[in-house]
Amino acid sequence: MINLLNLTLPELEAWTQAELGEPKFRAMQIWQWIWQRMARDFDTMTNISRPCRESMAAKACIVWPEVTAVEESQDGTTKFLLRLEDGAQVETVLIPSDSREGVRRWTQCLSCQVGCAMGCTFCSTGEMGFERNMTMAEILGQILVAREHLGDTRLHWPMLRNIVFMGMGEPLLNFNEVMRSLQSLNSDKGLNFSPRRITVSTCGIEKNLKELGECGLAFLAVSLHAPNQELRERIMPKAARWPLDRLMSTLQSYSLNTRERITFEYLLLGGVNDGLEHARELVPLVNSVKGKLNLIVYNPAEGSPYAAPSHERVLAFEKYLWDRGVTAILRKSKGQDIKAACGQLKAARQKEQLEEIKATAPGHAGQETSA
Ligand code: SF4
Repeated sequence: MINLLNLTLPELEAWTQAELGEPKFRAMQIWQWIWQRMARDFDTMTNISRPCRESMAAKACIVWPEVTAVEESQDGTTKFLLRLEDGAQVETVLIPSDSREGVRRWTQCLSCQVGCAMGCTFCSTGEMGFERNMTMAEILGQILVAREHLGDTRLHWPMLRNIVFMGMGEPLLNFNEVMRSLQSLNSDKGLNFSPRRITVSTCGIEKNLKELGECGLAFLAVSLHAPNQELRERIMPKAARWPLDRLMSTLQSYSLNTRERITFEYLLLGGVNDGLEHARELVPLVNSVKGKLNLIVYNPAEGSPYAAPSHERVLAFEKYLWDRGVTAILRKSKGQDIKAACGQLKAARQKEQLEEIKATAPGHAGQETSA
């Protein structure tokens, strides 16, 4: 039985015609019910005839990811652990920001793979290894879950404003489903997110990067995290297989709109990449493209080989860059009390499960989990 969340609008039109014998406008009605009104039951689609709804129910379903845990930080950051249809677990995070007028808006961080093959050494998801790619239904289903949680109908002023593909997984390695998701996000009769409100974050791999720029459906963020090839190889060994100089020269010809800039993410790891010598190397890199830098202070996970940088080093790093004309924005680390960094909640839950398994069946626990 087909999950209708897995169909783009043109695919839904073709399906509606082929399977229901209904015209194109019927597909648009169904699309609006699914993505705008968040219908999960065909019976609620009251502007569609009963025989058509019954026919749909016999051939299709609407399945959202199942919420298995919600954790809310003191700063409002909210993390969801979701179970997919095959039992796989992923995370999505809602991050609040308040306007000067005190109006709260949200950014959602989406996962696009179960686990990740890239093995970045600071990342809990990287430690888990790769399980599988997520489908469009699973990627966009995260947004439906979040909107339901927020009570965001999108009919008036939407509360969920920005989408970032910065959760579990490397988007360029699940490019087909990420592209289909971007196309669907764009639909003004559906979720209606403008490309200016969507960012796709990659650890900087060659595959599909050019195509992402050419599609114009999202802004680009690149996880840099090191200012030279040698350090990048230590911190992000798999991403660094594509050498830093080749990454930078590709970014120099990346398609950008007039006011668009590439965002570089730089995670400050205490004593590893947070010295002024590293800042000095960063300046020409960031200035070689239309770029800006997001500095993120590392929030150590349990058992992590890295430490948080000192406040003084962070401020000195930021100042060094600003003094040399680099736009460097220090991002506050949110949700520290709920393990909001990518993969941390899933890793913690797997560890709890492992402890339970150890207590009941000693000797077999290592086969039960990849965490
Ligand atoms: S940081 Fe991103 S690309 Fe690297 S292992 Fe984690 S999820 Fe994968």
